Amino acid sequence: MSTLTRTDPLSFLSDQLNELRAKGTHFRLRVLDDEQAPVCTFDGKRVINLASNNYLGLTTHPKLREAALDAARRYGVGSGAVRTIAGTMKIHMELEQKIARFKNVEACVVFQSGFTANAGTVSAILGKDDYIISDQLNHASIIDGARLSRAKILVFEHKNLADAESKLAGVKDQPGRKLLISDGVFSMDGDIGPLPGLCELAENYGAIMMVDDAHASGVLGRNGRGTIDHFNVHGRVDVQVGTLSKAIGALGGYVCGSHHLIDFLYHRARPFLFSTSHPPSVAATCMAAFDVLEEEPERIAQLWDNTRFWKHELALLGFDIGGRTTPESETPITPIIIGGGKQTMEFSRELFQEGVLGTGITYPTVPEGKARVRTIMTATHSREQLQQALEVLKRVGKRMGILT
Ligand SMILES: *Cc1c(COP(=O)(O)O)cnc(C)c1O
Repeated sequence: MSTLTRTDPLSFLSDQLNELRAKGTHFRLRVLDDEQAPVCTFDGKRVINLASNNYLGLTTHPKLREAALDAARRYGVGSGAVRTIAGTMKIHMELEQKIARFKNVEACVVFQSGFTANAGTVSAILGKDDYIISDQLNHASIIDGARLSRAKILVFEHKNLADAESKLAGVKDQPGRKLLISDGVFSMDGDIGPLPGLCELAENYGAIMMVDDAHASGVLGRNGRGTIDHFNVHGRVDVQVGTLSKAIGALGGYVCGSHHLIDFLYHRARPFLFSTSHPPSVAATCMAAFDVLEEEPERIAQLWDNTRFWKHELALLGFDIGGRTTPESETPITPIIIGGGKQTMEFSRELFQEGVLGTGITYPTVPEGKARVRTIMTATHSREQLQQALEVLKRVGKRMGILT
């Protein structure tokens, strides 16, 4: 039979892509030509970058760059194996010890990404007779981990402690283990999880308490120690997840907790067992980043200074930056809520044409009718750059009838 007459068994994918095109939510990847920086070149165009997670500007920090180069020269470019076979290098252990000391916990395990840290941990510590009580807006990696664990998933309303309690109360006489889990900072709205109340519930109901601090690492708490430090709930969160991919500027995720939690994850977390460890340059970069957090606290101060300025100015222009129809942003993540998916994507495209990169985010990443351009402030944006971005936002917002 000729291959020419064979119909493509994947043609249903084109149909689905066409549906996205009809809805106006199909996208092309924007390609960065130079470094991840506050002003950079995407698709050949110079833009003010309001879309990256590079909170502290560490992606291009000279100390991190030098650490990566030095490690590549000394130890090569790859680790050669998964951690449990032959891929644990001394530098991997040093990074874990450094993070554990920074977070003031007994132990730490580093994963390839925040995604694998969450998914690998949740699926390792829970089984099919257990329960996960999870905030409605928790990150996809937590949800995937919960599905892999086959535990029963009970979703509570966003940040609603009473609803979380009723879910815990509903299963308190069941024999399975309970894991109460929340993001520290929610990635789409920039609001902060109610950790003290959640810790209290976990204590009252004998649940394991887990927090995903991806967007709080390097941003909240003393020297960027995260929401556990921000709320001073040290010792009350059993499983602390952080990322090395956002403020830390490189790549990776980690879990902090007790010796037995970490030793258990060494034995049972599937991404740890079945996927190769970081190149030594990545581990070295992350080590240098934690030194920078301690040595250059002014970066975090500048991040928050820029964040206050940005939110104040956006609200003054009349944008809906959350709080009216969505949770209120309390962090450098500042959504500009537009509503419809199509108009949001058009707004994002128009901004780009005028020199501002702000990513349009639509359903299913955020609920229908809550589509937005998400902006993220960094420590390295200058006031002039921000003023210029505000001008563009105002002009395009008025032209499109988003601002009156
Ligand atoms: C980004 C993010 C992750 C994933 O982290 P990566 O290191 O990028 O894989 C996990 N949880 C939350 C809340 C995030 O925002």
